[in-house]
Amino acid sequence: MSKKIVVQKFGGTSVGSPEKIKAVANRTSQLLENNNKLVIVVSAMGNTTNQLVKLSKEITSNPSPREYDALVSTGENVSASLLAMSFQSLGIDAISLTGAQAGILTQDLHAKAKILTIKTDRIKKELDDNKVVIITGFQGINPNADVTTIGRGGSDTSAVALAAALDCEECEIYTDVDGVYTTDPRKIKDAKKLKEVSYEEMLEMASLGAKVLHPRAVECAKENKIILHVRSSFELTEGTRVKEVNQLEVSKPVTGITINENEAIISMIRVPNSPGIAGDIFKELAENSINVDMIIQNVLEKTDSNNISFSIHEDDLDQTLTITKSIAKKLNCKILSDTSIAKISCVGIGMISKPGTAAKMFTALGRKNINILRITTSEIKISCAIQQKDAQKALEVLHKEFELE
Ligand code: ADP
Ligand code: ASP
Ligand code: MG
Repeated sequence: MSKKIVVQKFGGTSVGSPEKIKAVANRTSQLLENNNKLVIVVSAMGNTTNQLVKLSKEITSNPSPREYDALVSTGENVSASLLAMSFQSLGIDAISLTGAQAGILTQDLHAKAKILTIKTDRIKKELDDNKVVIITGFQGINPNADVTTIGRGGSDTSAVALAAALDCEECEIYTDVDGVYTTDPRKIKDAKKLKEVSYEEMLEMASLGAKVLHPRAVECAKENKIILHVRSSFELTEGTRVKEVNQLEVSKPVTGITINENEAIISMIRVPNSPGIAGDIFKELAENSINVDMIIQNVLEKTDSNNISFSIHEDDLDQTLTITKSIAKKLNCKILSDTSIAKISCVGIGMISKPGTAAKMFTALGRKNINILRITTSEIKISCAIQQKDAQKALEVLHKEFELE
């Protein structure tokens, strides 16, 4: 029987100390007894990436993108080598590979490059030589062979892209919680673990702030029909499977609630009301890979101008301000930004067939005196921007309202 390739990813907390790294080697080595080939993708140890970002800021507030990536990608190199050493000290042959050595080729873009392709020859050769292959998450190389990184939290995406390139049916994501919950279990104690979640719902939840999976990992899994198994690094229990789910089984309107406190709202005041202007603004943001949400445009009565506002991730604030301010100069309009908001979202395929979900959400927030600043919806999600100070209260009331405990 030919050996099966198993791809597993271990996140920052799971490799946060030498003891934890040794525990990962101990745990995963048991899989080799079942005749598997093992590919392990690792994140940087604990808080390392944040510390590297902080270090760069101590040198300059505006590091060159190339050097930023050269620096922040190093965290993963450390954990990958340490894990390889841990296997070797158990008498198991193992090798660590950087993104470049593993053939992970990305766009020519820094800090949020997309993976274009993975040349798996080296990985396959090492697996054929009976080695455990440990690959650094979060990084790849661009066509100039410079190191790129693929976005914060991106090791999940590295793992899924590798699972796809190696034709795996499943990719295991080991983390510091034992699955995907109805909401962040660190914020709501009686949040419930979900046995399975559909790709669509997980994609919304991840994009709207459920940190447990990187949104692009879910997208990549969906496209390549790879089941994601999110589970605990520290316990042996079954976790949550993210996969195609039969919609007939859905009984509740809301499957999960997310909160995102890392958004900022940009408002462009008195933008000339003429065709093509909104297109120009958002095209430039898109060209800089800035994701935009909650777009609202209101035409100011009896004037030939309007206000356009939208939300972005706080990490993109400086770049967005630079872009919008340069546009504002040409259009003679004003730019305001607000980072004191939070976005709370209800996500569920069930809401398609259950009218009144939005009304229920708004009423529950109103009952608690929580002011809704803006609203956006899609087929399976409703999001409200609220004041950050109301975030926890809103999460508690909605989790109860939709009977998720
Ligand atoms: P890793 O370092 O393993 O990648 P992350 O910190 O990125 O782990 O993601 C795991 C964290 O995601 C958990 O500790 C939890 O606080 C948070 N989280 C947010 N929403 C959810 C959710 N719906 N279910 C589970 N965890 C969630
Ligand atoms: N180490 C990177 C980060 O902290 C990537 C990851 O952990 O997924 O963002
Ligand atoms: Mg993560």
